[in-house]
Amino acid sequence: MGDQGAPQKVIIVEGKTDRARILSVLDEPVRVVCTKGTLSYTTLEELILPLQDEEVYILVDADEPGMKLRRQLQRELPNAKHLYTRRVYREVARTPLGVLAKVLHDAHFAVDERWLDVPEGCEPPWGWIQ
Ligand code: MG
Repeated sequence: MGDQGAPQKVIIVEGKTDRARILSVLDEPVRVVCTKGTLSYTTLEELILPLQDEEVYILVDADEPGMKLRRQLQRELPNAKHLYTRRVYREVARTPLGVLAKVLHDAHFAVDERWLDVPEGCEPPWGWIQ
């Protein structure tokens, strides 16, 4: 691949459900990394610090542990871009897929554009929820 050295898009999330929901609306290859909440020294060394030269986005819960994690990640990866769910949903896992798609689309990720037509708060009745 002639692309070696080009930064890879990486989204840091807390849990596996967050990761699955993000991947289900994305329409481009993106690496989604789970911290499982807290950043131990080992997680930091093995998972986070190697991302320093990548194009990193942070999308964690809008609650106290999420904000703490976001501050910690910001210290380690000061160039990371910050994405936010709406406060009303608090958790990425409880954010409707259409809203997640809009958040990612606003940050210039390629998403399955069908999600952008879904009214906020509604999950569509069609067969494309994963
Ligand atoms: Mg949480």
